Amino acid sequence: HTDWTLNETAERRDTYYAASQRKFVPFKDPMVFKKGQMQYLWDVEGRKYTDLLGMNVCISVGHSHPKVVAAAMEQAQELTHCTTMFYHPVPAHFAQELAATMPNPDGDIEWVVHFTNSGAEAIDLAMTMARTYTGNLDLLALRTAYHGPTAAAQSITGISGWRHPGMPGNVAFVAEPNQYRGIFGEHAGAAPYLDEIERTIDTATSGRVAGMFIESVQGYGGIVEMPKGYMSGAAERVRAKGGLLIADEVQAGFGRTGDHMWGFERDGVIPDIVVMAKGIGNGFPLGAVVTRKHIAAPMAEKFMFHTYGANPTSCAAGRAVLQVIKEDNLQDNARQVGAALLKRLHVLKERHAAIGDVRGRGLMLAIEMVKDRKTKEPDPDTTAAVFEACRESGLILSKSGAYQSCLRMVPPMCLSLDDVEQVYEGLDQAFNSLSA
Ligand code: PMP
Repeated sequence: HTDWTLNETAERRDTYYAASQRKFVPFKDPMVFKKGQMQYLWDVEGRKYTDLLGMNVCISVGHSHPKVVAAAMEQAQELTHCTTMFYHPVPAHFAQELAATMPNPDGDIEWVVHFTNSGAEAIDLAMTMARTYTGNLDLLALRTAYHGPTAAAQSITGISGWRHPGMPGNVAFVAEPNQYRGIFGEHAGAAPYLDEIERTIDTATSGRVAGMFIESVQGYGGIVEMPKGYMSGAAERVRAKGGLLIADEVQAGFGRTGDHMWGFERDGVIPDIVVMAKGIGNGFPLGAVVTRKHIAAPMAEKFMFHTYGANPTSCAAGRAVLQVIKEDNLQDNARQVGAALLKRLHVLKERHAAIGDVRGRGLMLAIEMVKDRKTKEPDPDTTAAVFEACRESGLILSKSGAYQSCLRMVPPMCLSLDDVEQVYEGLDQAFNSLSA
C-alpha cells in the first residue's frame, strides 16, 4: 500500500470515504505521504516537505521519533492493550509523570488524571466533570474556539465553520479577546472582555455556571493568544458564579508556547481542569483530563470508562514524549526557534501588503491576510493562494481562523533555525509568486 500512487489512493478515498471525511482536504492537488522523520515529510514521489503543521499539532517531538516509536513498539509487543479495569504499570506511571508537569506552587494540589482516546472525548469528560462537581449546567466558551468533533465538544465550539447543528445546549458564547480584530479594537487588553464575561453570565445563563472553556492560544481560531490577565480574570469571575476554569491545552500544551510547559502558566493561573491530547502521544491516539482529586471524585458515584483510554501502547509513547521534550530541550527550542521565526514573519509583513498581522508565541504562529490593512477585511483567497504556493516551496501549513484568512504554523518542536531561513524564503517566494 505504501506504493499506491495518487490515483489509486484518491479513487478509494472518493468511493469509500464519507463526504464529511473527504471534505477536509486542504490542497487543490493533494499528495500521498509515505514517510516522516522529525520535522520533515516525504510523499510517494520522493518530494520532501517541511511540516509546519505537525500533522495538525499531533507531532510534538518529531515524526516517527525513534525513542517514541521504540517505546510504543516494545509495549505493543509485550501487551498491546490493557484497560483501566486491570492494573498495568505504564499508564499508572504516566499518570504520575503527567501530574508532576502541573503547577503546584505550595505542593498541596492533588492532581489526578483520567485518560481518554482523543481530545474531544477529554473535552466531553471535562464538561461532564464540571457539571457533576458544581451541580450547575451552564457553560461558557469563546466564539472562535474549536473544542472537537463529538456532539458535546461541538456544543462549546464557537467557530461557525466547524460547528454542526443539533448539538446539546446550555452554552453561552463570549467574545474572543482577539487583540487584532476583536470587538473592542486593537490591543484592547483583557479588561473589556472580562466585563463581557460578567455580562454574559448575568444575561445569558441561569446566573450559576459549571465552567468556562478557554484555549490559552486558540488554534483553529487562527492563533489567538489570550491577553495577559484574561485567563486569571476569567477564572475569578467564573469561580464567583460557582464554576470552574477549564483549560483546553490540546494545541498549546507540552511546551509548544516556549515559555512554559502549559500555555495557561503564562498568566499565572491554575485551572481547575486541564484537557490535553494531540502532542501528548506524538501521533499515538491519547487524550487526558487532569484535574484536582476532589473535582474528579463525585463522578465516581457512577461508572465512567473509556475502552482505549490509558492503553499501555499509547501511554508508553506518551512517557517517551515527556522524556524527549526534556532530553532534547524542546520547550526551549520552541521558544528560541519560534522567536526567530516570528521575527522573520515581521520582515515578511513589511515586504507584503497582503499581510495584516503576524502573531503567536513559541511554535504557535500565524500570518493573517487582509484585503486592506486599514479596514482589515479578511482575505481567504490570498490565504489559499499563498498556502498552495508554499506547497510548491515544500512547506505545509494550515489555513485557519474564523474567516480562513490565517496561515497557522504549529510544527514539530524540533524545528531548527536553519529551517526558519528556509521557511522565510519559501513564504517570501510564495507571496512574490502572487504578484508575478
Ligand atoms: N481542542 C482543540 C483546541 C483542538 O484543536 C482539537 C483538535 N483539533 C480538539 C480539542 C479535539 O481533539 P481530537 O481531534 O483529538 O478529538
